Amino acid sequence: MKLLTVFGHPIEHSLSPVIHQAFAEQFDISLKYSKTDVAPGTFKQALETFHTNGGFAANVTVPYKGEAFEFCDSLSELAKRAQAVNTLLWQEGGLFGTNTDGQGFVNDLIKNHHQSLKGKRILILGAGGATRGILGPIIDEAPQTIVLANRTFEKAVDLSEAFERALLPMSYEDLGHVDGAFDYIINATSASLGQETLPISTTIVQNTFVYDLMYHQSRQTAFTQWASDNGAQQTTDGLGMLIEQAALGFELWFNMAPKTAPIFKLFENKS
Ligand code: NDP
Repeated sequence: MKLLTVFGHPIEHSLSPVIHQAFAEQFDISLKYSKTDVAPGTFKQALETFHTNGGFAANVTVPYKGEAFEFCDSLSELAKRAQAVNTLLWQEGGLFGTNTDGQGFVNDLIKNHHQSLKGKRILILGAGGATRGILGPIIDEAPQTIVLANRTFEKAVDLSEAFERALLPMSYEDLGHVDGAFDYIINATSASLGQETLPISTTIVQNTFVYDLMYHQSRQTAFTQWASDNGAQQTTDGLGMLIEQAALGFELWFNMAPKTAPIFKLFENKS
């Protein structure tokens, strides 16, 4: 039996064990996927203990994706661009880390929502770890423009520099002066977690596709609700991103690509 876990703090809310168990059943793979709540300052020790006890592979979530990046012996290009790791695999040469968040996001948009980012105008709200994870794969889809707005403007500028100015940093105040509509608005802030709204005008969401990276059992977040109420064409939460990033991790670990559609059904039945 393969032993897997997801490291994070807090971790009780994680859906990863359910998702990976369901993937494993598609191939009759026997695995035990646990949740490891890691106290601050003990992540490296938690990694070593898990591996010593026979751990095969793992996921990493908030707040340890940056530390996981530091502790890996080898990294994928995606992890290097994101400077964060969400998927780990112990190999002969040591600990390998990659980041499947961004490709998971893009796969959800393309496969499940039948969208295309090519030539499109994109607004990303937030400049934290999740934004860093999705930026590389979004840039690879060749959109026309990426505007990045963040409450702390300097962080948007830093990300723009890190991604060779492929995006335009902006303050929320300046968003009001942008000409033309956006095709996609991606909420990568954690504002929805606290049911907070963002200081953007209602006109900006009209006729756009709004994607909130946060997910909720009801499939609605404070932000998607606000966007729907104010004329967004379509909205979604981040459950699809979570499922698609997990599928990419599973494929790395077991060399088999799981079907994701049954997992959406699983959560529909649960909600
Ligand atoms: P971080 O803590 O790294 O970044 C949070 C960001 O949100 C910062 O840019 C911060 O701005 C901004 N922010 C927080 N509160 C507010 C507010 N009230 N008003 C305006 N801006 C605000 O978080 P992550 O990037 O790791 O996560 C962001 C979201 O993405 C979370 O909801 C998380 O659940 C989701 N996520 C979903 C995934 C999925 O698979 N679906 C995967 C990863 C993340 P500032 O810089 O000014 O502090």
